[in-house]
Amino acid sequence: MPRALFLDRDGTLIVDKVYLSDPDGVELFPGVAEALRRAKALGHRLFLFTNQSGIGRGYYSIEDALRVNARLDAMIGGPQPVFDEVCIAPEAPDQPMVYRKPSPRFIVETMAKYGLSPSDCTMVGDSAADIGAALAAGIRAVAVRTGKVDPSGLAIVADNRIPVFDTFAAYAAAELSA
Ligand SMILES: [Mg+2]
Repeated sequence: MPRALFLDRDGTLIVDKVYLSDPDGVELFPGVAEALRRAKALGHRLFLFTNQSGIGRGYYSIEDALRVNARLDAMIGGPQPVFDEVCIAPEAPDQPMVYRKPSPRFIVETMAKYGLSPSDCTMVGDSAADIGAALAAGIRAVAVRTGKVDPSGLAIVADNRIPVFDTFAAYAAAELSA
């Protein structure tokens, strides 16, 4: 059982609206709020790790992304802040990659900051970039089917025998316990 979860946002916790900049567009998948509140109550650290290339592309600002995340926190409810750390990677694909997944940099830095070992951590996401970041950081990866593509069809998922769950809530029910 992980002590810490690195969580993708779009397509994992909320519906992937593509370049979401309006807090009113935040739509949690069923069971996500309850699962995250339960994970926190069980003592798991929660880290939000989201690529937001819309910032680098000039479609919206970091402040817009922060407002979206604030709405997400409010909708999850329970003790605040929900997430111990948040990484919004703003780079567009043609800009130098710093934190943008599949870079493992946020995961590596956060494990060091919180004294976590790779075996303490799981990354949950819907895309090849999420899985790639986890593997590059040496932590476990789990895929969910709530994004744009079925991760079962991704080579990185098949080649590395990454577990695939229908939803984040299904993952949480199966693997997060006291
Ligand atoms: Mg995603």
